Amino acid sequence: MKIGVLTSGGDAPGMNVAIRAVVRAGANNGHKVYGIYDGYRGLLESNFKLLNHHSVSGILTLGGTVLGTSRVPEFLDHEVRVQAAENLKKKGIEALVVIGGDGTYRGAMELTKLGIKCVGLPGTIDNDIAGTDFTIGFHTAVETIVDAVDKLRDTSTSHQRCSVLEVMGRKCGDLALYAGICGGAEFIWTPENPIDKDKMLKQLTKYKKEGRRHAIVVLTEKQVDPHALAEEISAKSGFSSRATVLGYIQRGGSPCPDDRILASRMGNYAIELLNQGIYGVAVGVRDNRMISMPFNNVVGQERPKNQLYSLVKKVS
Ligand code: ADP
Repeated sequence: MKIGVLTSGGDAPGMNVAIRAVVRAGANNGHKVYGIYDGYRGLLESNFKLLNHHSVSGILTLGGTVLGTSRVPEFLDHEVRVQAAENLKKKGIEALVVIGGDGTYRGAMELTKLGIKCVGLPGTIDNDIAGTDFTIGFHTAVETIVDAVDKLRDTSTSHQRCSVLEVMGRKCGDLALYAGICGGAEFIWTPENPIDKDKMLKQLTKYKKEGRRHAIVVLTEKQVDPHALAEEISAKSGFSSRATVLGYIQRGGSPCPDDRILASRMGNYAIELLNQGIYGVAVGVRDNRMISMPFNNVVGQERPKNQLYSLVKKVS
């Protein structure tokens, strides 16, 4: 079989590990694997290159994606997707492994309807995909954020400050949740755990009076303006407060061991599924086992509330 592999949407550490696994497992099973460059744009431009064992050597440790990624709004247009599927068929590529998030899965679901055998791997730092306990890149991003929390704590303690740290996650608070727990944050404010600001300010005032030398608030993006929050904390709690928006640093870096293992397993599993004639599915890990679910059961679906919230103080 000729199989294409592409990365799409937001990049995530570990995407290269997944590419490597797909290429090598594919070749080991007698398939030809083509790298498709810059996500769905590569389908429109027929930007394909045959990859082999050697082409993916040395990429295991690299952050980002060697295939490049993009956002292609035209792909929402049916006619454009028909052309993309035609370009693949012209080259004899009948299957496609896509590595990306929810939007990427939506594109793959449509391509499956057009006769391309698609398998999706969850590549996003946000851990916001239903049907998997973890996404490729999440663990590395948590490490990056924990490092930031630890460093902020050092300077917060020295200056007796309250640090507000905004992290990514879109509608999923897992990055803030994991990093907040690992870094001992006083408050973790996420979409799943919204915080009553007045109650938080009261508690911070109490902490300050008790003589605490620092406090950390970890916040998922788009919940509240972090700078305005820091100003209010400074005005009302007795702590002087500063906001840090971590931004794209969270997307970078060499994948950590957990992400390398996850991406290797998922890449191999994608080939196993195609060998068995299974497609139109997204791969996940559930209770440390590889699973697959039809795209339909994954896209736009809510994830259950993370059990780790039982460790988090409720301030609502
Ligand atoms: P992610 O995959 O990280 O969620 P995006 O939401 O940006 O990132 O989606 C990546 C790409 O997938 C988009 O740029 C677009 O080309 C394609 N895509 C997104 N939504 C759809 C859709 N409903 N139908 C077809 N293609 C889509």
